[in-house]
Amino acid sequence: MVKIGIMGLTGCSGCQCEILNCQDALMKLLGMVEISYFPLAQDNNTFEEFDVMFVEGSVTTEEDEAKVLKAREKSKILVAIGSCACYGGVQAQKNDEASLEEMLKTVYGRTELFLKVTKPRAVSEVVDVDYELPGCPLDKRQFVYAVSFLLNGVKPFFPKIPVCHECKLSETECLTLKGIPCQGPVTYAGCGAPCTSQGVGCQGCRGNCDFPNFDEMLKILNQNGLSEKDAVAFLKVFRGYQGKEIKVNGEERRNEKGA
Ligand code: SF4
Ligand code: SF4
Repeated sequence: MVKIGIMGLTGCSGCQCEILNCQDALMKLLGMVEISYFPLAQDNNTFEEFDVMFVEGSVTTEEDEAKVLKAREKSKILVAIGSCACYGGVQAQKNDEASLEEMLKTVYGRTELFLKVTKPRAVSEVVDVDYELPGCPLDKRQFVYAVSFLLNGVKPFFPKIPVCHECKLSETECLTLKGIPCQGPVTYAGCGAPCTSQGVGCQGCRGNCDFPNFDEMLKILNQNGLSEKDAVAFLKVFRGYQGKEIKVNGEERRNEKGA
């Protein structure tokens, strides 16, 4: 029996809830796997060896760091789930603009907390990650596909095409042409574009598609009413460390990890 673990670091637990929302598919999977660690959903948990460990949340405390190091040591395959685990999440959007002390003072009015807090990091900034399933929350269909692939010894593969492809497939009228700010051209598809189909511009929750053209994206967002500063802030909400390459006024762009 394949042993699975599902753990949470710093985040809202929304991705773990999405896994529970898989309902019928989850019931079928339960016949093929043993979920030996899932504290959000069950009482009896063991933390020994895992074939696959799914990790939600960003590494934002020293406790998170110890947990994810231990998870890596105990797991053959480690999968980051959700945008916090994959990129650092919304809590990492100001990492390159302020020190940890400045952020703590702004949010809490002090720098000493009962937890030892660090700048929020993606799981891949701390340990090796085998696969990433981004999204806020992750797409539950992709979770089921990924587990099915892994159970059959197949590498999960989801092409990093832009969300615009999904609008074309669902015949959703382009919001950009209606003047609504939308990050679809630079955002990794796979969600089925639920936002644009409801008339809400893509907020970029799944991070970068392959070869994102941020110069053109900034121009389009500008044409749709956002100042360059606001457009950069909009693009950086969910991208975590990926957002470091997006700067106002075409300043030097970097594509590196680290807070
Ligand atoms: S609505 Fe957004 S995601 Fe859809 S085609 Fe237009 S720009 Fe692309
Ligand atoms: S359309 Fe954009 S914001 Fe909405 S779920 Fe997809 S990637 Fe996330």
